[in-house]
Amino acid sequence: MNIHEYQAKQLLAQRGVGVPPGGVATSTDEARAVAERLFADGHARVVVKSQIHAGGRGKGTFKSGFPGGVQLAQSAAEAQQLAEAMLGQVLVTKQTGPEGRTVGRVLIEAAGTIQKEFYLAVTLDRASARPVVLAGTEGGMDIEEAAARTPGKICRKSIDPALGLMPYQARGLAGALGLSGDLLNAAARFIPRVYRTWWECDASLVEINPLALLEGADGTTLCAIDAKINLDDNGLARHPELQALRDLGEEAPLEIEAGKHQLSYIQMDGNIACLVNGAGLAMATMDIIQHCGGRPANFLDVGGGASTEQVAAAFKIILQDPNVRAILVNIFGGIMDCDIIAQGIVTAVRETGLSLPLVVRLEGNNVRAGQQTLATSGVTIISGDSMADAAQKAVAAAMA
Ligand code: ADP
Ligand code: MG
Repeated sequence: MNIHEYQAKQLLAQRGVGVPPGGVATSTDEARAVAERLFADGHARVVVKSQIHAGGRGKGTFKSGFPGGVQLAQSAAEAQQLAEAMLGQVLVTKQTGPEGRTVGRVLIEAAGTIQKEFYLAVTLDRASARPVVLAGTEGGMDIEEAAARTPGKICRKSIDPALGLMPYQARGLAGALGLSGDLLNAAARFIPRVYRTWWECDASLVEINPLALLEGADGTTLCAIDAKINLDDNGLARHPELQALRDLGEEAPLEIEAGKHQLSYIQMDGNIACLVNGAGLAMATMDIIQHCGGRPANFLDVGGGASTEQVAAAFKIILQDPNVRAILVNIFGGIMDCDIIAQGIVTAVRETGLSLPLVVRLEGNNVRAGQQTLATSGVTIISGDSMADAAQKAVAAAMA
């Protein structure tokens, strides 16, 4: 699950990570009020930041033509005007795809004078099966290009999960940022707090880009200017407070609908819908569709013990995707009773009045009864003898 920048900064601030003072607003009046408070507190400028679950906002453009999802304001009135230009508008960035994202909230923050921008992240390194902390001097808006150009410039520390980030590792990372003296000490305190946030929230990623050296009234300080946190869905059950941060407006409507029926569904851009039991088989099904020259429209796992109702719900979700030209049902009944799937298919076809080609490959537990149910249902089904046969038939049907 992804969360917004302002929420990520709250989680970091709760653990002592320095972030700019500010507040979130959903209306232009609220935006003005937050800005007025910041100016009253003595800040000379504020920044108005579009909150969407995608990066690259600073260099993004609104569909309205207004450039930049992150903008500086010199007065509360200007902050209000900027909020007006952003709220309710669609922001397109490198990460949103051409359809963009509608901005529902803006974050208004004090804007400091940035002396230097760094990159800092904590994530899981699958190869070593350990947390890894990354730090680099090339922070800011073009980190991807910088990392590709000079990969050696990023310092990596692999963390023993039982020990956590060790003080010497934090100092090593701080040194890699080119800091010394008091600033090195400050960074060696700052970085473990970011690691702690990653660990305590069961995050899969905490990324601070840029981490900045700010010039201010109280000297030079380290501050998280941007923050991105991805939470591991498998850890969410133990964090009701983090579940509350979910913004359904940022998630694909069909994926939300699927979640209500305990279906794992990810929409893709092909035209062959898949309905499969088990994540591994779902992946293999997508691969074989691709191998046969087709393109999958989705990943859909109905799980190990799907009910007739779930199968019917899965069909309805698939049919809401206008790109779908054919449906491939690929079921291996280990735990799953093939007849339940067959009944679900028949119910769903009747309820939805399905007219698209439907290829079904059933195998395993109670498969005879399942085939019997399909054969006597009067529903038009293209039957696949094997996975390859079914995939070829689905690809041919989608092209017809
Ligand atoms: P994104 O990564 O989505 O483009 P950022 O939050 O990183 O958004 O903002 C883009 C740039 O705007 C930053 O790299 C920084 O230079 C500037 N910026 C953002 N917030 C502030 C702030 N509070 N004070 C000063 N500059 C800021
Ligand atoms: Mg950024």
